[in-house]
Amino acid sequence: MSFRAKLINITTALGIVFVTMLTFFVARHNRKILIDNTLENNREVASAISINIDNYLVELSRTAKTLATTPVIIDRVKGSNRQIEHLSGEGRKNRIKVFNDKWTSTHDEKETFIQGSLSNPAAEHLKKQQEVIPGLYGEIFLTNMYGELIASTTKLTTYYHGDKYWWLEAYNKGEGKVFFDDRGYDDSVGDYVLGVVVPVYDQGQVIGILKSNIRISRLFSEVIQNYSLLYKPGSVKIARTDGAIVLEPGKEPFSTTISKDLLPILGEEITYGIYKDKNNQDILVSISPVANTIESSRFGFGGTVESIDHTLGNNDENWMVVIEVPKEFIDSRVYEQTKQFLLIGFLTILIISLFTLFFIEKVTKNITKLVAFTEEVGQGNLDKHIEVRSNDEIGTLAKSFNKMLDRLKETMASRAELTEEINRRIKVEEKLKYLSTIDELTKVYNRRAFNDYMCKMIDFSKSYGEPLSIAMLDIDHYKEINDSYGHDVGDEVLKKLSKTLLRNIRKVDILARWGGEEFAILMPKNNAEEAYRTLERLRKTIESTVLMNDIRITISVGVAELKNTDAANDLVRRADEALYKAKNNGRNNVQVL
Ligand code: GH3
Ligand code: MG
Ligand code: MG
Repeated sequence: MSFRAKLINITTALGIVFVTMLTFFVARHNRKILIDNTLENNREVASAISINIDNYLVELSRTAKTLATTPVIIDRVKGSNRQIEHLSGEGRKNRIKVFNDKWTSTHDEKETFIQGSLSNPAAEHLKKQQEVIPGLYGEIFLTNMYGELIASTTKLTTYYHGDKYWWLEAYNKGEGKVFFDDRGYDDSVGDYVLGVVVPVYDQGQVIGILKSNIRISRLFSEVIQNYSLLYKPGSVKIARTDGAIVLEPGKEPFSTTISKDLLPILGEEITYGIYKDKNNQDILVSISPVANTIESSRFGFGGTVESIDHTLGNNDENWMVVIEVPKEFIDSRVYEQTKQFLLIGFLTILIISLFTLFFIEKVTKNITKLVAFTEEVGQGNLDKHIEVRSNDEIGTLAKSFNKMLDRLKETMASRAELTEEINRRIKVEEKLKYLSTIDELTKVYNRRAFNDYMCKMIDFSKSYGEPLSIAMLDIDHYKEINDSYGHDVGDEVLKKLSKTLLRNIRKVDILARWGGEEFAILMPKNNAEEAYRTLERLRKTIESTVLMNDIRITISVGVAELKNTDAANDLVRRADEALYKAKNNGRNNVQVL
């Protein structure tokens, strides 16, 4: 794997691990915060809604109380009470029974008896009140202090109310009290009906009871719906402490109940927590009680099962505002957040990886350059320098490399110089050696070289028992040439003679200039006779050769063959003697000794 791939893999892997771990922790943390916040917020919202509902209840009671203080109402009650006051208890009972029977059996509203309650000035006033806020009111009606109906907006089922729960609560043994009659859903009205029951006072005495039925679901559901629209996944309900749901957007009152899991916590405290719903799913629940629905010295609240019907009657329960949010909603929000977080995380990794790639590209480019360069250097090319402009370790490495290369080049150069010097000296030495064995004028061997060869050949010939001869030659009357033609011509004659001699002897024979105009020839494997023949032939050749400018010369030769007892100087001496003999013998002849 290349350096680049390794770095990218490591960066990416670390990034993924880091982002995943971070996402996991952030998601867990977010979920907890989201749950806490939701519960806390909803608790506040529930509290705000319950206060809102409370304010409505207070407002309703205030309106009813104001209505009960209007003179036309008070006059009507007072007038009615006066008609009965004088009757004994038994007499009142009878009168009420008669009137009640008459009321229930009379179905024609136009009847004078019925009209007496529906079209008197008080009833007209109540009807006007009904029109103040259209749609809010159900029946509004008035009883005297004995419970007889004396004014009403419509014909009610019964005439007598003095034995009813709400009436007795509001009369409060003559003390008077505002009472909310939680009647529940009324099919005939098509709404959830709350009876607001207030005493009618005269000089601090309770003289009658006024009841106005309020259709509350329209009133409260607006409050609830606003919240539900604002915060879709949650649902707001008004539930009773027995679990019946009084109000829930889109649902009929009492058609549903809250989860059994919540029943134990429906107390008087504001509370919240995570509970199970009917399907055993987790829900975040925040609850706030509606304060004025709790029985107090100021208000009475409740009803009897008889007050509306047997199943839905209120047994001293109160109302609670309940906000529920499925925990699944929190999870899905956390899931969305986590997805976004992961996306951002992985995008970041991608950017970092690309950045790393770009960075590595820069670094490895220089490394690749270095590698290629070292390979070139390895092949012996020392003339280049590598160019890396970065200031990092690679730049420093390149600089060091260039320095090293310069040193190497210097060393190589001095080595080449040394080799050249050695070669030069070898050549000089070879030349010196050559010059020391060669006669400068004639380019044949000199006397020293001749002596060396002769000594070696004497040893060789003696060891192998082979013959060896030497000849000593001297130009006759050479002095005369010098004298007649000059010294330069004399030199030229010596050169020509040397060439002629070399041409006419064997390759194994050694010709040397002995000194002056005297030469010596070493003839291996030749005995005296063979040597004589060769020299005789040579003598004749020279005698008949024109060397230059008509100049002819002759030579005298002394030949000697090696004897077993001979040392080198013995052999030379004998050849010299033979030469001497030849000179004495008239020159231009060969003598053997
Ligand atoms: P002979 O027949 O008795 O040998 O008589 P010669 O004249 O050859 O001998 P001699 O010894 O009298 O003379 C030799 C001369 O050779 C003397 C010397 O000046 C001359 N000579 C010796 N070496 C050289 C040389 O290198 N170049 C020239 N041109 N002359 C040389
Ligand atoms: Mg001589
Ligand atoms: Mg001579």
